[in-house]
Amino acid sequence: MKARIIPIVRTVRATLPPGRDLVAPPEGALVDLRGRRVRDLRISVTDRCNFRCVYCMPKEVFGDDYAFLPRSKLLSFEEIVRVARVFVDQGVEKIRITGGEPLLRKHIENLIEQLAKLPVELTLTTNGSLLRKKARALKDAGLHRVTVSLDGIDDAAFKRMNDVDYAVGDVLDGIEAAAEVGLAPIKINCVVKRGSNDDQILPLARHFRHSRHILRFIEYMDVGSSNGWCMDEVLPSADVVARIGQEFPLEAIDANYPGEVAERWRYTDGGGEVGVISSVTQAFCSSCTRIRLSTEGQLYTCLFAQSGHDLRALLRHGNGDEALRREIAAVWRGRDDRYSEIRTAATSLPGGKIEMSYIGG
Ligand code: SAM
Ligand code: SF4
Ligand code: SF4
Repeated sequence: MKARIIPIVRTVRATLPPGRDLVAPPEGALVDLRGRRVRDLRISVTDRCNFRCVYCMPKEVFGDDYAFLPRSKLLSFEEIVRVARVFVDQGVEKIRITGGEPLLRKHIENLIEQLAKLPVELTLTTNGSLLRKKARALKDAGLHRVTVSLDGIDDAAFKRMNDVDYAVGDVLDGIEAAAEVGLAPIKINCVVKRGSNDDQILPLARHFRHSRHILRFIEYMDVGSSNGWCMDEVLPSADVVARIGQEFPLEAIDANYPGEVAERWRYTDGGGEVGVISSVTQAFCSSCTRIRLSTEGQLYTCLFAQSGHDLRALLRHGNGDEALRREIAAVWRGRDDRYSEIRTAATSLPGGKIEMSYIGG
């Protein structure tokens, strides 16, 4: 097996963009067909959300009659922890809880408390609406930090993006609550959709300069089949950096670790840092170490996958951890995904791709 993997690792390295190196996997580590380790596990704990962000859960598709998963199909906390433990044994070092809106899952702090016993970095991505209510319980349960999505700083612009009339002030208050209890450093993620919220780039940058929070801009992606994505609505990260740089000079800084997806920039006047994630214009598949567990226990090796691997059936039919371990290893070893590197107008057409709110962002 090894003889086959090593040349592939070399090929992958040769195609890595500058500054993005693949860490050599330790002896015996689980690696996929492109020499990538499994390192990050994203767990979706609900497919429901109280927002209807236009690029993620458009109202026309996710309306009042939308059939969300029934409770019986959701993985229980015990099942999630079992899968997570096996993943950690296989090399996972980071776990991110996501959704849908993860803070809508009842007693989410109980899951956090269990996962916090594992030797991993434990984070959660949220729209921030329930953070004021939940921050203390999450911190006490052992959560390390949060990432908050925020697509505008002007109230009207933010409401246009969340499409449920949710006020920006309440999310800012949630961010404050998270900071007060020490769920830091807090990352603030803004998805930029050209023509919808790109007028928010500078106001957001002005707002979060000199804060302790790290603002990052993400290119709008063709995830799922319902958002009507088209390339014209993607604003390249290079333009985001140029726009900010015109008002506040920026200089590039090194990645925190090899394979970090965000490109980091620093305000030269000491105003802190800002990041960009160029999922569309500068694919980072060659260093992608992420795997996703959906709300109902399907395992997806790529955000753009069209099908998953059913772990819930394994869990619910009396199989032991060894069977789980074998299945997970087989799935990762057979992984060859690199969607963002081979994206074309044809691959991004609607049809069959899993929704972000289901698979977990
Ligand atoms: N509800 C939580 C939130 O919004 O933070 C967690 C789940 S959400 C699916 C996770 C992340 O995916 C959010 O930051 C969201 O902005 C991002 N996202 C959703 N659809 C996207 C798309 N089409 N392109 C880029 N990012 C997207
Ligand atoms: Fe909900 Fe997050 Fe999707 Fe917005 S991005 S609709 S908050 S799941
Ligand atoms: Fe990873 Fe798939 Fe995204 Fe590429 S497209 S970075 S393989 S999740």
